[in-house]
Amino acid sequence: MQDLFVDGQWVGSTGSGPGRVILNPFDGSELATVTEAGADDVHAAVRAARTAFDSGPWRSTTARHRGELLRAISALLVRDRAEIARIESLDTGKTLTEGGIDVDDVAAVFRYYAGLADTDAGRVVDTGNPDVVSRVVHEPVGVCALITPWNYPLLQLSWKLAPALAAGNTVVIKPSEVTPLSSIHLVRLVDEVGFPAGVVNLVLGAGATTGAALVEHPHVDLISFTGGLATGRAIMAAAAADVKRIALELGGKNPNVVFADTDFDTAVDYALMAAFLHSGQVCSAGSRLIVESSIHDSFVAELARRADAIQLGNGLDETTECGPLVSSEHRAKVEAHIERALADGARLVTGGRRPEDPTLANGYFLRPTIFADCRSDLAIVQDEVFGPVVTVERFDTEDEAIRLANNTSYGLAGAVWTNDASRAQRVAGALRHGTVWINDFHPYVPQAEWGGFGKSGIGRELGPSGLDEYRETKHVYQNTRPAPQRWFAGGENRDG
Ligand code: NAD
Repeated sequence: MQDLFVDGQWVGSTGSGPGRVILNPFDGSELATVTEAGADDVHAAVRAARTAFDSGPWRSTTARHRGELLRAISALLVRDRAEIARIESLDTGKTLTEGGIDVDDVAAVFRYYAGLADTDAGRVVDTGNPDVVSRVVHEPVGVCALITPWNYPLLQLSWKLAPALAAGNTVVIKPSEVTPLSSIHLVRLVDEVGFPAGVVNLVLGAGATTGAALVEHPHVDLISFTGGLATGRAIMAAAAADVKRIALELGGKNPNVVFADTDFDTAVDYALMAAFLHSGQVCSAGSRLIVESSIHDSFVAELARRADAIQLGNGLDETTECGPLVSSEHRAKVEAHIERALADGARLVTGGRRPEDPTLANGYFLRPTIFADCRSDLAIVQDEVFGPVVTVERFDTEDEAIRLANNTSYGLAGAVWTNDASRAQRVAGALRHGTVWINDFHPYVPQAEWGGFGKSGIGRELGPSGLDEYRETKHVYQNTRPAPQRWFAGGENRDG
């Protein structure tokens, strides 16, 4: 096993651990066994990144050249699309179609930052003094730790890796221990393109050990993390010791507000997609449906009818609409949320159980689940479940809809469905969420920022701000004609 990439070499762990078995969530079968990095391996990776940043040839590469390297990665992703989509489907349980879309998106992210790499040379400042040249320029931050979750392993990595490299940083990547396979493949593509040794490093292993060793390492300058709120808090605390830069993309509890004047069938269809795409294991999942009272009952009935018809199965089968949850541990957590909701008195409309189909018995499946008549103070409405569970609340007025939609400590994304363009803009303006969709759900583009208000995180990925996360800003002020003035009397005496 040589799955760690350190200083330009594929290496095993310096420890003697047995490695980690990666399971297929569809049936629990073994997909691979991968290396686990110990603290020494993390140290070696950070040291390689530090040396590459401080004294390697990477320092003198031009932004244009860095852009060319990113474009080459994008081309290799397109070349390997089918293989990577299959890896992602096997590892995460998502459908092959979704895996393919992920690869397309990832290639687009690398292309976007390839284009952006050399477009911003800073700015000249008019100081009002003709004898001064004042420039504001950007520089890379240094060694960046890139830590990613298991739901969109490749996509989340690309949102970090592409801008970090475009800006000239060196990186140590730590993917989720549950789904590391596509990240290993991406680093193989990085190796194929040919970056200087130490610019990109990969360590694998659990959060509490490998991840913690990385975030606590004094030679790491920046931590970019996507994952859960509790981990985000721990990382923020660890970063405080050295005042490391941090970027946090955390969870969400995303409202999907449906007004009665919208197209009913389209809104139902998108509400299903919003809640159950990738079995709800999406940070921006539309897990809180907020429906106008006049259509509430018929909306919930149609939603349940169609949720019951969702085809669960192997992500590799063309007929599958939803795959399993990522692991048996994660399914147990989602089931605990469902139990709590039942105990709290939420009305279970459908789902809430494992499927009866014996061909799915070895996988980590759960039926799409709908709770209605939910009060917004219930745990099931407030806590991120990260599974195929949607709650439904009702409203009578626009103000009430906005109040319910904003009644969360998160603030990642939300949607409003209405045919009234003025109302759409009013509600979009009032929602305290980092992304708002009008008559749609889930789309994102590399050109537009992504990130959260409130406990959904700190900073933004994608767009120009996504590049700024990985840059320091420096003011260079030059006095081109120092005047023969003396600040202190002693100087005048000396000259005289
Ligand atoms: P997680 O927080 O358990 O783990 C995320 C990563 O952090 C993994 O690589 C893990 O090994 C690592 N980690 C865990 N403990 C660590 C520690 N103490 N120090 C350093 N690293 C540590 O999250 P998850 O279960 O993998 O992912 C699900 C979560 O991710 C959900 O809350 C979801 O909302 C969030 N997410 C957010 C976005 C977004 O864009 N905001 C996108 C995807 C997922």
